[in-house]
Amino acid sequence: MNAVNSSKEEQTQGHVLIVGSLNMDLVGRAPRLPKPGETLSGTTFATIAGGKGGNQAVAAARLGAKVAMIGATGADSYGDILRAGLAAEGIDGSGVATVANVATGVAMIIVDDASQNAILIIPGANGTVTPAAISQHEALIRAADVVVCQLEVPHDTVFAALQSARRLGKVTVLNPAPVSAPLPVAWLAEADYLIPNEIEAATLSGIPVDSPQDACIAAQRLRAMGARNVLITLGSRGLVSLTGEDTVHYPGTPVKAVDTTAAGDTFAGGFAAALARGATVHDAILLGQRAAAISVTRAGAQPSIPYLHEVESQA
Ligand code: ATP
Repeated sequence: MNAVNSSKEEQTQGHVLIVGSLNMDLVGRAPRLPKPGETLSGTTFATIAGGKGGNQAVAAARLGAKVAMIGATGADSYGDILRAGLAAEGIDGSGVATVANVATGVAMIIVDDASQNAILIIPGANGTVTPAAISQHEALIRAADVVVCQLEVPHDTVFAALQSARRLGKVTVLNPAPVSAPLPVAWLAEADYLIPNEIEAATLSGIPVDSPQDACIAAQRLRAMGARNVLITLGSRGLVSLTGEDTVHYPGTPVKAVDTTAAGDTFAGGFAAALARGATVHDAILLGQRAAAISVTRAGAQPSIPYLHEVESQA
């Protein structure tokens, strides 16, 4: 690519900042999940870069944004691999701290022959991302068009990031995952776009979400609680949005799913990348959905996330 093309491309790229987790996924496969106290022989093992923050950063980068990240790893080999992985995707990792005497976050995942899984997440260095990191890296927030957070780093850090970004006039996105209890009302108003899946939407709204109709009711309830714009993702059933007065159901793209890991992260990263380069909310939703639909046809988390040209060639 020559210098003229390169600078033209950069002008059309929006800037996305991800504040979130970096984990190494340690994925073992076994005929069945072991019982407590049982030692079982598995079949395969793989280490795969993950963490919702890392996945969403990779998704936003592959789907067309200039991406920076605020997070942390330990000073260990998994941390080295994760930071090198971000760099290989062209992601600015200057906001990713390397913390001594704390292990890089890991997710220990066992998947059985029936595709059931058991997952143990040890946050490690992700737990050291404090609100001070948000103040320290204010320049990254200033440079961003869209700031995206999840809940795998300390919650006060997420709140500080959302508040700071809104104060600086940035668009804020909160993917409230994982979540086990309703969030303080003040939080909901700090996110321009709240993107829960159906389980998270039920936890936050108190309304069980088993259908698109339920999701419409939950979205209205979240709006009444203080949320601005709500996008509830519904797996193969697509999503329900509430961005104006009315809820809208976007049906899922029909595909043959083989592994839905990171579908939500692909959607959030793609949605943010499209918004950052000035797309309408409608078009940003469509891009996120198309990208997520491709991701479920492939195995793994980050390896399954498509590039913008793949999504555009299927549109
Ligand atoms: P994960 O935790 O696995 O990352 P999630 O629960 O956060 O996923 P989902 O609601 O499962 O998120 O999926 C996000 C989006 O991905 C959906 O709104 C939809 O557009 C797309 N998607 C997910 N699963 C499928 C599928 N089986 N077929 C087509 N599209 C899908």
